[in-house]
Amino acid sequence: MIGFSLTPEQKAKQEKARRFAREVILPAAGKHDREGDFPLEIMQKAYAEGYLTPLVPRQYGGGGWGILDTCLLSEELASGDMGIFVSIFVSTLALHPIISFGTEDQKERFLRPFCSKYTLASYCLSEPRAGSDPASMETTAAPDGNGYVLNGTKMWITNGGYADLYVVFANTDRQKKHRGIISLIVPASSPGIRRGGPIDKMGQRASNTTALTFQNVRVGKENLLGGEREGFKKAMAALDITRPMIGAGAVGLARSAMELATQYAQKRIQFGVPISHHQAIQFILADMAIGIDAARLLVWRAACLADEGKRNSTEAAVAKAFAADLAMRVTTDAVQVYGAMGYTKYHPVEKLMRDAKVIQIYEGSAQIMRRIIARSMLGRVP
Ligand SMILES: Cc1cc2nc3c(=O)[nH]c(=O)nc-3n(C[C@H](O)[C@H](O)[C@H](O)COP(=O)(O)OP(=O)(O)OC[C@H]3O[C@@H](n4cnc5c(N)ncnc54)[C@H](O)[C@@H]3O)c2cc1C
Repeated sequence: MIGFSLTPEQKAKQEKARRFAREVILPAAGKHDREGDFPLEIMQKAYAEGYLTPLVPRQYGGGGWGILDTCLLSEELASGDMGIFVSIFVSTLALHPIISFGTEDQKERFLRPFCSKYTLASYCLSEPRAGSDPASMETTAAPDGNGYVLNGTKMWITNGGYADLYVVFANTDRQKKHRGIISLIVPASSPGIRRGGPIDKMGQRASNTTALTFQNVRVGKENLLGGEREGFKKAMAALDITRPMIGAGAVGLARSAMELATQYAQKRIQFGVPISHHQAIQFILADMAIGIDAARLLVWRAACLADEGKRNSTEAAVAKAFAADLAMRVTTDAVQVYGAMGYTKYHPVEKLMRDAKVIQIYEGSAQIMRRIIARSMLGRVP
């Protein structure tokens, strides 16, 4: 059966998140965009609402939500500000490998404390020379006694400057490429970790993005997630779950741009009538609505498959690619509807356009999403 109706509980979650976005996130969005500072107060409020730990099972103090419910949350939070949403969301990405592959001892040691006080986690995969091809990572985890010694630099780490916990992917033997990659839970207080300063970005400026350097950081074997040889699979499994959430965020961002453009088109008079009376403008607005609906349905499909425990790598890539491109198109068109005013800092649509761009780059770029989709059609091609 295919259903498109949300349950009363889902609608209540959605409405609550929409209020949070409208009352807490949106009023601060412009300031954080201008100043590029971290929205600590909002993050603490998000923690109090349980938005940092929706996927963590209830037995450890989390929300015990499903993937679809977390996508509903994502769309609403991102409608307030995509950068603040990403700061909230990234702990879910980092915690996913612990939720799915952690031992009971690891869940007790890391998930429970995470839920009982305000804490952030980062997902550390990318490196200066390994982005779309993470299997070529240079960070090493050299086996040493009853653990590993981590050395290397991670790059573009969201919340890197503020996280208390890092889930780090590193190679025990670079000759083995992805088969040598392991995943380690690393407390940020471990000696030998150096956090870089915030990277000055084009958009999503409320989210903190840094480099992280690991110099002879000792990590006990009890912090190894799953077996050796399994780390790369865990990294990719987390992305299958979180790509629909990023897609949902893109939908929320696009929705805000569409709402602003629709309001402006009804107010701005040219040729003696509101510009919304011109068919060319109506069609721009209608195309926004068509794309947003389509993207949301793709997101929901990818999320529902994950909730059913089914493999969704291709559907997650389809949803993420479509929603990211859609957000870029809708925000660009919103600037067009505003005309010259859209090209100024006096109206928020230029910010939405800047915020949209990076969705086509992170969590797997537009090209990498298409690579995944083409592979599902053609198999591996040389
Ligand atoms: C704001 C921000 C936040 C981020 N947060 C995190 C985080 O929390 N954790 C983390 O680990 N990483 C994070 N990243 C990193 C992000 O995942 C990478 O930027 C992304 O994977 C792309 O890697 P790259 O930037 O090195 O681009 P590259 O891999 O250098 O790619 C450059 C261009 O080449 C294209 N390309 C590469 N390979 C192929 C191919 N085989 N076929 C066709 N085209 C190709 C790409 O699509 C892209 O257009 C973040 C990045 C940003 C900008």
